[in-house]
Amino acid sequence: MKTLIVQNPTQKDIVDYKISEAKIDPDTGDALINTGTGLPAETGRTLEWSIKSGEELEFPAYVARYLKGVFVFLDVKEKTVPEEAVVGEVLGEPEVVVPDTSSGFMCTYCGKSFETKKGLGMHMGRSHAEELSEI
Ligand SMILES: [Zn+2]
Repeated sequence: MKTLIVQNPTQKDIVDYKISEAKIDPDTGDALINTGTGLPAETGRTLEWSIKSGEELEFPAYVARYLKGVFVFLDVKEKTVPEEAVVGEVLGEPEVVVPDTSSGFMCTYCGKSFETKKGLGMHMGRSHAEELSEI
């Protein structure tokens, strides 16, 4: 079934809002539209939907659109699951920042690296003048 994310950013609770259950088109996963009326084809049953203040819930797409039509303050958005992000979360690999010491000149006092020896020298003079004078 096609779904959408509904957010209620307000202080107002929506409780047991009745919506006629729609038939779901097995091809699209969305509500089956009655070509005669242009409205979703109904199963004859009525479902009740609630979304309280501050909640974020996943609703069938036709329900989300219906609620948005009635309660315009709701935020309705596509469910987006960036697959790469999910993979990263599942693996839980912490991002390790390895200082690049393979090139350049590293300050022996604080570990900062510089592209040129001149850059390192200037840094030493500016940031570590005291240490240098003690040698
Ligand atoms: Zn330094």
